Amino acid sequence: MVPIKKLTIEKISNRHSGEYDFFVSGKSLLQELKGLGRGGMVANLGSERDLVDTQMRELLLCEVAGTTANGHIPLYVCPCRDLACGYISVKVTHSKGCFIWSNFAYHWTDFTQNEVSESVTQISELKASRFKEADYTAALGHVSH
Ligand SMILES: [Zn+2]
Repeated sequence: MVPIKKLTIEKISNRHSGEYDFFVSGKSLLQELKGLGRGGMVANLGSERDLVDTQMRELLLCEVAGTTANGHIPLYVCPCRDLACGYISVKVTHSKGCFIWSNFAYHWTDFTQNEVSESVTQISELKASRFKEADYTAALGHVSH
């Protein structure tokens, strides 16, 4: 059973890593990624005025299908926002009043052999989390300062 956690979006102090991050039951996901050697990215969030933009909100609420080749959502991206720099994705599913984040993966672009292709590695150390629908939708519309 995937454990129930609480998602929040909170301001982080580290200027270099972007202003806001996803927190899972109080733990910064970016910090966890750094611990796994996947730092240097920023949460795929907007500015303070429009923190979760319409496209990201629709993706995270499963209102539209995931945009990556494997149907995932780009969750952490390069500070320049170009997915070709590599990014971390998550699979989001909506089931029985919960949203589930699972199958975290690292994607990078392979420019070898005159052909551009995307490679994907699972990040098995990051475990799946389940979020109650009410908390989850509130988190996507509300920022805690
Ligand atoms: Zn970049």
